[in-house]
Amino acid sequence: MPTPARVRADACPGVFAPHDAADGPLARVRLPGGAVSAAQLRALADCAEACGDGDLHLTSRGNVQLRGVTRPGLATRLTDAGLLPSPSHERVRNVLASPLSGLTGGLADVRGLAFSLDRLLCSTPELASLPGRFLFAFDDGRGDVAGEGADVCWRATGHSSGTLLLAGGDTGRRVARADAVSALVDVALEFGRVRGSAWRVAELDDPAWHGAPVPRFDVPVPVGLITRDGGFAAGVVPRFGQLSATQVRALASFGAAVVTPWKSLVLPDAPADVFERLGFGGEPLGTSACVGRPGCMKSRADVRADAEFRPGLRAHFSGCERRCGKPSQSHVDVVAEDGGYRVDGRWVPLEELKGSL
Ligand code: SF4
Repeated sequence: MPTPARVRADACPGVFAPHDAADGPLARVRLPGGAVSAAQLRALADCAEACGDGDLHLTSRGNVQLRGVTRPGLATRLTDAGLLPSPSHERVRNVLASPLSGLTGGLADVRGLAFSLDRLLCSTPELASLPGRFLFAFDDGRGDVAGEGADVCWRATGHSSGTLLLAGGDTGRRVARADAVSALVDVALEFGRVRGSAWRVAELDDPAWHGAPVPRFDVPVPVGLITRDGGFAAGVVPRFGQLSATQVRALASFGAAVVTPWKSLVLPDAPADVFERLGFGGEPLGTSACVGRPGCMKSRADVRADAEFRPGLRAHFSGCERRCGKPSQSHVDVVAEDGGYRVDGRWVPLEELKGSL
């Protein structure tokens, strides 16, 4: 169902346009396809310590954020690390890709597609004005990122064939893997021409932009030790998607990583004892929460303290109705109010919260 066009300007944060949060400027760093090298992980850890609050915060779009960025030098550090290749396009490099692609499962290897799309995106001047909320995705056929609400998604139907989804709906348009990148860029260019004040494809009224609904499946999120050809990968789950600089450097000791849209990471190459060596991240996906108090001035509560991280419990705590960072998979919806929470719409006083989940 199309929604009314936006009347506010798109204020998605970036590095050059940080969000003014209660705990200081918040900078978002885009990682197309979630891909980040070991050297870039170390650079991000250094940035968190030198410029921010010392932590790295994962987002539900497979990007990372630095909070409390009160000291200078972030853009220079990120540019030197290759994490800010195009100042004019930094906020539009929102690209998801199936995190386990090429490692295990899936119908096609989409790892290189996100990289190619990023390069084409950054070299197309018209796309610099794309809304920062516009999301691209490459799903390798397993259906994991196709359900993450991308504006335009290429979903593999075979090794070299795929289909085009718009706002999660199947357009029926078949696109070869070799043409996937240009097809997604063409859609973004056309969206830019017709969007008016819309930020997302779902906001367009023209039925030509709405495909047939695709059934949504809860695809398991990669967590724990994962057997793959020739070794292991690891799905690492930091509590509330937050990593200290020390933890980020520990991850980098195992090589490159992929940040997932589920506030977790995949290490493509991991030893069998990776979690013993890391000392964190081996639990299943659990409670998630927005940043809450004191980081967000809109929050009615310190939601992370109230939530406590509970592995296996898919509940999302929000400090207000905006529900930032809520998972796209099925979950218990927990929203703060004065003195308690609404749990799936039911009022629960704070003292009874633990027993009600
Ligand atoms: S859900 Fe509300 S309280 Fe939480 S971070 Fe978003 S705006 Fe702030």
